[in-house]
Amino acid sequence: MSQAAKEKDILLEVQNLKTYYPIRGGFLRKKIGDVKAVDGISFSIRKGETLGLVGESGCGKSTAGRTILRLLNPTSGKIIFDGKDITSVKGTSLRKIRQDFQMVFQDPYASLNPMQMVGDVISEPIRNFTGKSLKQLKPEVMDLLTKVGLPEDAYYKYPHEFSGGQRQRIGIARALALRPKLIIADEPVSALDVSVQSQVLNLLKELQQEFDLTFLFIAHDLSVVKHMSDCIGVMYLGGLVEIATKKSLYVEPLHPYTQALVSAIPEPDPRKKRHRIILQGDMPSPIDPPKGCAFHPRCMHAKEECSKVKPVLKEVKPGHQVACHIYN
Ligand code: SF4
Repeated sequence: MSQAAKEKDILLEVQNLKTYYPIRGGFLRKKIGDVKAVDGISFSIRKGETLGLVGESGCGKSTAGRTILRLLNPTSGKIIFDGKDITSVKGTSLRKIRQDFQMVFQDPYASLNPMQMVGDVISEPIRNFTGKSLKQLKPEVMDLLTKVGLPEDAYYKYPHEFSGGQRQRIGIARALALRPKLIIADEPVSALDVSVQSQVLNLLKELQQEFDLTFLFIAHDLSVVKHMSDCIGVMYLGGLVEIATKKSLYVEPLHPYTQALVSAIPEPDPRKKRHRIILQGDMPSPIDPPKGCAFHPRCMHAKEECSKVKPVLKEVKPGHQVACHIYN
């Protein structure tokens, strides 16, 4: 595919995105610093594909998802969606764009109104955008229930009458109601029993085909991300340290942090032994990140340069980018 065709195929592009939270202190509540939750990430997702964003809790992946959805305002950088710069759109324009991207949350129960019947919950986004009545939308909602694997009588029930996996199906049906182009799924299966996780993941994959969806799939568990993604971005302390195709990342992880994450994935074949890399220490605070490479206090390959110069993400093999001085 030519470069021009590839660019035309891109649905979401994020350029040097930063989301900082101000820290205030003193009598006058003056700004005394920033929590650098997302600190300059860049990536793109092609139409119909899934980018998995993975990293430990607190690495900034959820903040990145919420910033892209414009639930949070970016501090700087650009968000380009379907060829339009949406970084600073507001009001009616933002509302209009929001039809095209939806979120599936980690805790479906917290995101569903317990006082509303499921039929109400699912049809609410369409009613808000189109002004159609509950009655008019009933056949459409029934169809969505079937598509997410719920019986039609679920329409008349309340969220508390369902299991965790079923509630997540309700959340997915609601996200699909406006026929979005992009779905940002933030840890969509981490609150579910392991036995139902793969059912929900398979459902998301089926719906991706049927509705021609593009996904940004956020999770801390690399084996879950592996199941879903075409490409994977690994985040550490607000930054992207590696991006590659799924195969390249799992077969040959380059960044020492990714190598540690991949080594922790359980090996299904008991005859094969995998050398587990145990990381020392915790992730530092994003209020006062280490100088140079943010990973250097925990990295067994760190050299002098690593504590002084921040490595930039660069392509070291076709489609495989890494931010590490080893590959300079
Ligand atoms: Fe380790 Fe240095 Fe690479 Fe950072 S830049 S991951 S400290 S080797």
